[in-house]
Amino acid sequence: MAKTKPGKKDLDSYTIKGTNKVVRPGDYVLMKPSDSDKPPYVARVEKIEADHRNNVKVRVRWYYRPEESIGGRRQFHGAKELFLSDHYDLQSAHTIEGKCIVHSFKSYTKLENVGSKDYFCRFEYKAATGGFTPDRVAVYCKCEMPYNPDDLMVQCEGCKDWFHPSCMGMTIEEAKKLDPFLCSDCSSEDGAKRPLSSFHVEPKVESKRRKR
Ligand SMILES: [Zn+2]
Ligand SMILES: [Zn+2]
Repeated sequence: MAKTKPGKKDLDSYTIKGTNKVVRPGDYVLMKPSDSDKPPYVARVEKIEADHRNNVKVRVRWYYRPEESIGGRRQFHGAKELFLSDHYDLQSAHTIEGKCIVHSFKSYTKLENVGSKDYFCRFEYKAATGGFTPDRVAVYCKCEMPYNPDDLMVQCEGCKDWFHPSCMGMTIEEAKKLDPFLCSDCSSEDGAKRPLSSFHVEPKVESKRRKR
């Protein structure tokens, strides 16, 4: 943990230049990327401090986008998904462009509308090793993939598993018309149930679960 050095003073808040938006420790912020073609960086503000010349600095904990992770973006990653990294930095407060919200996965899936400043996080990420916490998550559907909140899924009345209409050979409209929806296992005579398995998030160990 960094101690406050002499001549520095902790601040309760910082007002983003040219706005009336107030940032406090614990808030989520968008920060100017070094390459202006890239989307803004997302971070959580841990601490705000001013040095003896009144330059305001923020200690931030970075969120990584799937593209920035060692394994890259994968099919189950949502468009607004971020990973809470173990990478901290001290940045000039001037690089803060605005505020945003990083939701929990559950509250994100319950949002009525996803705005441009809504993100979600379900994994912590170790920047040095590419490791994720949790390293396993539940999988759904015949494709046995973790839930991507951007993809519509329908729930089977029988086994309560969730399915992508496309994996069941249907369009979204066709699946919605089936009420109740039964997956192919539950609608077949023997009604064989597929045990729910979990998915190893880290890329190296992925390929083994492809039994269908
Ligand atoms: Zn599927
Ligand atoms: Zn079923």
